[in-house]
Amino acid sequence: MYYHDLNSELRRRFGCKVYKLSLATGATCPNRDGRCGTGGCIFCDGAGFFAAKGASVEEQLAKAKARIRDKVPSGTRYIAYFQDYSATYAPLSRLETAFFSALADPEVVMLSAATRPDCLPEAVLELLSACQEQKPVMVELGLQTIHAHSAEHIRRGYDLSVFEDAVSQLRKRNLDVVVHLILGMPWETREEMLQSAAYVGRMDVQGVKLHLLHVLSGTDLGSEYLRKPFHLPDLEEYISLLEDVLRLIPPEVVIHRLTGDGAKKNLIAPLWSADKKHVLNAIRAAFERDNLVQGSLHQA
Ligand code: SF4
Repeated sequence: MYYHDLNSELRRRFGCKVYKLSLATGATCPNRDGRCGTGGCIFCDGAGFFAAKGASVEEQLAKAKARIRDKVPSGTRYIAYFQDYSATYAPLSRLETAFFSALADPEVVMLSAATRPDCLPEAVLELLSACQEQKPVMVELGLQTIHAHSAEHIRRGYDLSVFEDAVSQLRKRNLDVVVHLILGMPWETREEMLQSAAYVGRMDVQGVKLHLLHVLSGTDLGSEYLRKPFHLPDLEEYISLLEDVLRLIPPEVVIHRLTGDGAKKNLIAPLWSADKKHVLNAIRAAFERDNLVQGSLHQA
């Protein structure tokens, strides 16, 4: 059994336990402020962005470290993970302050920013490049799917060509790219989900984050589901899909996540996903049973 998990990769790269600390730049999202939409993506409740808003990055770092101090071994190092909304969609001066403040922390070994491919203008790319001169930087892009009908259904608000251009601009600057995909969207066939995975597997990206579609209260997807429940994968179905996806991703690509991580209190479906420990144990047991090998079906 082999898959290239993030924890092992970070330990190999930095020689110690590395933990992500969620931080906010105070950014919003073009899919919410009217630049390309106001309702947001249909699955997004914005509640996953739990970093302390309004506080300086130094304060946010101190609070985030204090929260986990008893849980992590001494000598743990940190990734400053800017993940609020579209983390690069804020005034440049604010981004500069936030990113360089985080990098100045000696316990921070890496900077990560989760954003949209249409939120990476030249000035932001240059800023990320300048950050990388100090410490490694990775940029997460919420692609979710390569299929236009599906992107329209979730109201993603940008075309695949925008994603491709962003990846090429980031890689030109040697910045690591992590791509988010959502599995289990009922308006996509299994074949279409595998096509998204195969496509990402052929791109020059360094990481993939796989999410199970979560139906959350307070979202348009949640209202759609409550009006007329649709099919969502059960655990076995999800694991089988996940295995096929991983077989299409080259072995050197780091897998940052195997399933979703939504707030339990807002979860409408699938309820089995709320027991994260059970889910991860079942996934790992299935990987062993099936002798899963990441990239075994990858074609360059
Ligand atoms: S998922 Fe990202 S892009 Fe979509 S509405 Fe939420 S913050 Fe904006």
